Amino acid sequence: MTERLIVVSNRIPTKAPSSGGLVVALHEALAERGGVWIGAHPDAGDEKGLFSIGDTPYQRLAFRLSEQEYEDYYLGFSNSVLWPLFHRRSDLVELRSGYSAGYRRLNARLAGMIARMIEPGDTIWVHDYHLLPLAQELRALGVTNRIGFFLHIPFPALGDLAVLPYPEAFAGWLAAYTLVGLQTQADTARCLEMFRSDPRAEFLPDGAVKFDGGVVSVRSFPIGIDDEGFRDLAAREAPNPFGKDAPEDLIIGVDRLDYTKGLPNRFRAFEAYLDRYAAGRRPTLLQIAPPTREQVEAYRQIRAELEEISGQINGRHAELDWTPIRYIHRPVGRETLALLYRMARVCLVTSLADGMNLVAKEYVAAQDRADPGVLVLSRFAGAAEEMEDALLVNPYDTDDCARAIDMALKMPLSERIRRNEASLAAVERTRVSTWTGHFLDVLATVPLQPGGADMMAREWSLGGK
Ligand code: UDP
Repeated sequence: MTERLIVVSNRIPTKAPSSGGLVVALHEALAERGGVWIGAHPDAGDEKGLFSIGDTPYQRLAFRLSEQEYEDYYLGFSNSVLWPLFHRRSDLVELRSGYSAGYRRLNARLAGMIARMIEPGDTIWVHDYHLLPLAQELRALGVTNRIGFFLHIPFPALGDLAVLPYPEAFAGWLAAYTLVGLQTQADTARCLEMFRSDPRAEFLPDGAVKFDGGVVSVRSFPIGIDDEGFRDLAAREAPNPFGKDAPEDLIIGVDRLDYTKGLPNRFRAFEAYLDRYAAGRRPTLLQIAPPTREQVEAYRQIRAELEEISGQINGRHAELDWTPIRYIHRPVGRETLALLYRMARVCLVTSLADGMNLVAKEYVAAQDRADPGVLVLSRFAGAAEEMEDALLVNPYDTDDCARAIDMALKMPLSERIRRNEASLAAVERTRVSTWTGHFLDVLATVPLQPGGADMMAREWSLGGK
C-alpha cells in the first residue's frame, strides 16, 4: 500500500520554491514522503479536471477556477465573508447571494476530483479557510482516509459565527476532519468552546470530539519560519539598500495592505510618538505595504485611508532633509527585507487580529545578536502567545503604542539582548522545517472513529448533509 501525502491548498505554487517558509517546508515533506500537491492555478485556462504542472520530485496537480468561481468562492465567500469574520470584522462581511453556494459548489467539485485519485494509505492535508468543507464533501463520497486541516488565520469567536449564512454547518465542516490544527492555544480554546456549545458534539475522555459519526481532535501548531535562512540572509555582506543616506532611527513595518494589520492605528501611534516623545530625534517609519485583493472594496478603502494619513503626517512633520514616513506600496523581496530588518532599530507589528504574523518572527531572526533591535508586537497577533518578551501593545491604544516606540528607541543594550534572546528561543521552537513533521505525526496517531474505517464510511455516507 502506498502512503502518499496529499496536500490541498487554495493556490498551488507554479514553480518549485527557492526560498524558505511554508511552501518550502511542504515541498520538502512531499519530496521526502512522495505525494501530490493540489491547488488552483492562478491563470485562466480550458482544462476541466486536475492537470499536471511543473517538474518536482512529487506530483503537482492544478485545477482552474472559472470567472464565476473566482468571484463567488475566492473573492466572495472566502475573502469577503470568512476573512473579515474570522478576523473580528463582522462589520466588513459582504453577504451577497451566490457567495455561499459558490463556495460549497467549488469545494464539492474539488472533492469529486480528489476522491477519484485517493488510495487507501493516503494522508490528506488541507490548508486554510478557502477549503473548510472539503473533508465533509470527501466523506460524502466515501473517503475514509485520515484528513488533517490547518487554519492559518484566527479561529472566530463563537458569537461571530452567527453571521454565517448557515452557522450550524460550520461545526460539521470541521468535525469531518481527523485533526484540526490551529495557530494558538487561544484559537484551540475558541474551537473547543464552539463544540461545547453544540448539542450534537460529545467530548471523549481524551479530549477528542465525537460529532455526527466522526471523531475530530483539535490541537495548536504555531507556525514558524526558516529562522536560520533568514539570519544568514540578514547577516550577509550586501550593499546598503538605502544607498548612502540610511535613516538614523529606522522603524520598520512590513504587511500586506490589509485592514487586519492595524496600519492606520500604527501611523497614528507614530504621529503621537513624534508629537509627544521624539524631542531631538528624527526617526523614519519605513512601511512596506504591498497591495492585496484590490478587487474587494474594503481593500480599496484601507489604501485610500492610509495614503491620506501618511500624507497628513508627512505634511505636518517633514523637513527638507527628513521624511518621517516612507510608504512603499509594492512588494519587497526576501533578500532586501532581511537587510532592512537588521538595520531597523524597531519593528512595529500592530495587527488588530492575526493568525500568527511571520514578520514578527523574521524580524527577531534577522537581528544582530550583539546589538539587536526591538520588536513591538500586538497582543492580538498569534505570535504574542509565544513571544512574551517582545514589547506587547494594545494596537487600539495609540498612546500605549507611542510609549512603546519611545521605550524601544531608548532601550539599553542589555535589555535589548535579553528580550531578543528570549524571542529567538520562541522562534527556534516553531521552526517551519519541524512544524510539518509535527503536524503529520499527530495526524497519523490521533484516534479515528471507534469501530474503524469501514464503519466511518457507512456513517458518513448515511449522515444527512
Ligand atoms: N512579505 C514579503 N514582501 C513584502 C511583504 C511581505 O516577502 O513586501 C512576506 C513577509 O516576509 C512574510 C509574509 O510576506 O513572510 C507575510 O506573512 P505574515 O504572517 O506576516 O502575514 P500574512 O500576509 O500571511 O497575513
